[in-house]
Amino acid sequence: AAMLAAIRKVGTAMATTNTTTTGGADRPHYDYLVVGAGFAGSVMAERLAADAGKKVLVIDRRPHVAGNAYDVQDESGILIHQYGPHIFHTNSDEVFSYLSRFTEWRPYEHRVLAEVRGQQVPIPINRTTLNKLFDAGLETDEDAAAFLAARAEPVAEVRTSEDVVVSAVGEELYRLFFRGYTRKQWGLDPSELDKSVTARVPTRTNLDDRYFGDTHQAMPAHGFTAMFTRMLDHPNITVMLDTDFAELEGTATWGKMVYTGPIDEYFGHRYGKLPYRSLRFEHRTLQTEWHQAVAVVNYPDEAVPYTRVTEYKHLTGQDSQVTSVTFEYPASEGDPYYPIPRPENQALFKRYEALSLAEPDVIFVGRLATYRYYNMDQVVGQALATYRRLKAREEESVLA
Ligand code: FAD
Ligand code: UDP
Repeated sequence: AAMLAAIRKVGTAMATTNTTTTGGADRPHYDYLVVGAGFAGSVMAERLAADAGKKVLVIDRRPHVAGNAYDVQDESGILIHQYGPHIFHTNSDEVFSYLSRFTEWRPYEHRVLAEVRGQQVPIPINRTTLNKLFDAGLETDEDAAAFLAARAEPVAEVRTSEDVVVSAVGEELYRLFFRGYTRKQWGLDPSELDKSVTARVPTRTNLDDRYFGDTHQAMPAHGFTAMFTRMLDHPNITVMLDTDFAELEGTATWGKMVYTGPIDEYFGHRYGKLPYRSLRFEHRTLQTEWHQAVAVVNYPDEAVPYTRVTEYKHLTGQDSQVTSVTFEYPASEGDPYYPIPRPENQALFKRYEALSLAEPDVIFVGRLATYRYYNMDQVVGQALATYRRLKAREEESVLA
């Protein structure tokens, strides 16, 4: 019955089965099982199939590919991101050219405003932000640098997410832009989080109001899901959706495995649960042409229950008389979206990582399996590097 259910799922999936039955008992056999059809799993599957000629089974427990980058047209025809706004940016030529095999791009530079003291001002903090908030009349980069230097409170050692910001811009701007947002987003005070979290957001003294400074900034022209569909469209790849790894036993056999789910789940939480932060997404279509001036508006005020609002038409360039938006409400329970960077969590991850190193035939890749707060491009880079190492290892063992 499980087998039939699996085949039915394959029927609704994007790829057709293309397998040999060396597994016995009519169970299809694959060289590789890939758990998870997000960036990590899909890049690994594509490389294994297209570069190494392996037969690959990709499973995902969700009813779609693309992992958290999944986008889909809503009832009004606007392409929305089911798991929150995903903006592509990278400094890696290799990652950008690899993904360009599977998509065309729409040039897009992300801009974000933060609602502070009743005004919407640029974040990252830049010269415009300071002039708007403080009527500071700063005319040059040097003016802005001096303004910030007068407020900054240097700390001996920058360790936490509070230190990073307070040492750069001082207590007042820290409280206005970072403290409330971070407490909401993570359920922790910035003083309890690694510096790497708020260090994602720079401080600027010029007028650059782009959220990212990367050399490549663009959105897949037909969306992320379309890009993944092309990536996985290979005769050596079979995709089974609505399929949890825990339920796969008996339906197929495989040689090696690539695992991109939460690492603590793989090991049955034997050392306890690794903390992940979750979100609840409220998707709405509003009967107005535009809701806000830019794609994302952040709400650092702790009295506002959501962290940010995304308006998708800014990302897609679609024309419509209505507009679709998503409100993000942080949550402690739910899908694991964010690893939580702090020393005790890293220590627990290291114990799981030690277990994973003892399983050479299971390769752990991606944001959840390596417990790293990685952007999409970093996950693609990690998967490409992992594949290269795997290939080198296989070539060595063939030669030996
Ligand atoms: P995932 O996308 O999480 O994929 C893992 C997949 O494995 C999931 O589909 C899951 O269903 C499946 N899975 C897990 N366990 C099992 C199992 N046991 N059986 C079967 N399937 C399983 N990055 C950017 O570069 N720019 C952004 O603007 C950006 N915005 C983001 C906004 C939000 C709200 C979030 C949460 C993330 C954002 N990211 C962004 C990060 C981006 O989502 C990740 O870097 C990327 O999606 C990670 O890919 P992955 O394959 O490692 O994991
Ligand atoms: N952050 C903040 N205020 C902001 C934007 C970001 O305090 O207006 C902090 C917050 O802790 C957030 C982190 O910086 O989680 C990283 O922000 P980013 O926009 O990169 O978060 P992501 O898009 O990954 O959710």
